[in-house]
Amino acid sequence: MKNILLCLSLFLLHAPSFSQRIDELINAAEVTRIESTLSSDAMEGRRTFTKGIDKAASFLAEEFSKIGLQPGGSNNSYLQSFEMISARIRQGKVLVDGQEIPASDLICQTTATTVHFESGGAAEVAYIGATDNFMQSFRAIRGKSNNLVVFIDTAHRNFFNRIKAFGGPRFPGNTSQLFILSHLAKPAQFSAHLDMELTTHKLANVVGIIPGKSKASELVIFSGHYDHLGYGKPDDKGDSLYNGANDDASGTTAVVMLARYFKAMGPQERTLVFAAFTAEEVGGFGSQYFSRQYDPAKVMAMFNIEMVGTESKWGRNSAYITGYEKTNMGSILEKNLEGTAFKFYPDPYPQQNLFYRSDNATLARLGVPAHTISTSKMDNEPHYHKPSDEIGTLDMQNMAEVIKAIALSSRSIVSGKDTPSRVNTADLR
Ligand SMILES: [Zn+2]
Repeated sequence: MKNILLCLSLFLLHAPSFSQRIDELINAAEVTRIESTLSSDAMEGRRTFTKGIDKAASFLAEEFSKIGLQPGGSNNSYLQSFEMISARIRQGKVLVDGQEIPASDLICQTTATTVHFESGGAAEVAYIGATDNFMQSFRAIRGKSNNLVVFIDTAHRNFFNRIKAFGGPRFPGNTSQLFILSHLAKPAQFSAHLDMELTTHKLANVVGIIPGKSKASELVIFSGHYDHLGYGKPDDKGDSLYNGANDDASGTTAVVMLARYFKAMGPQERTLVFAAFTAEEVGGFGSQYFSRQYDPAKVMAMFNIEMVGTESKWGRNSAYITGYEKTNMGSILEKNLEGTAFKFYPDPYPQQNLFYRSDNATLARLGVPAHTISTSKMDNEPHYHKPSDEIGTLDMQNMAEVIKAIALSSRSIVSGKDTPSRVNTADLR
């Protein structure tokens, strides 16, 4: 009898202590500590390929280590290191129907030191004509990984220059893609012989793991990107440092907080993976590399967290989920939040294509229920991609509430009780 009473009182004690525990683990003070470090001037805006982002990576690795996560990166470290290569044309000749194309009208993305293409050769040839929708055509082409020659009509010169300015680093591989700006949209004959100058860049995601118990092979991912824009065009106050406090130091902070929470809660049935991605702002390369390290069939859910530092359009204690209608994950999360003051909504900005614009997209395209959670008012967020995206513009208390809601909403998924439905890859664009 005594034992039963003891058990009962322990059980009753457990319920309030569970919610006290979450406030102890995820609170405005801890959120501020991580957020203020990541968005400090010392991190130099965390631009990919700079020293600032390396500092941020070391800081995150140290936090993962202090929390006690298992290293999920390369060589038993938290850094998931990889390389990308950018290419510049050193010299060569491109002839299109007998006319030489100036170097300014060429983009060659390759990891080879020499590139040769000829009409009638093995490479695929694509055309973006004067009346084609450039972005639509380009999106279809960009997904390809084969040898490719693309003729772009000079009507699209502005788009062409934007791709050129971006540079387009690639993962090491054996294919080359040549973009030629030409008024001859469909030429009869062409040849290209180019010598390339290659630069190798080192990048790293930061990854930590809490191994699961009975369903250890099934993964649940919590992620955000820790890179931002670094130094850039000054604003009218003369500030040229883009700190990216909301974008996406806030999501990265959430990942650290969630790791801390789940580590303290003890192992779940499923394995939890905590990832801070690099290179989101320059093309999503960090999440692309990360996604290749896992079998998508084993990923049960991905919570990608982007810009959760400001109030959503519905006010405090709310956030939205991109691609809400594509799986039943959103309704599972909502069910787990019943009885709390917090509410998740479907993405209110569907015309902005947010589902495809963040780090969840790579795994979502492979069928994984991978969604981005955000509070960002995409039609009215005055500091978005501006030097003024600083910690002073964020609400630390509300951010803590968002992170707690993510933790609680994931309960039945990390425990293996609920498995969200998959994204139907047949109707993806
Ligand atoms: Zn972002």
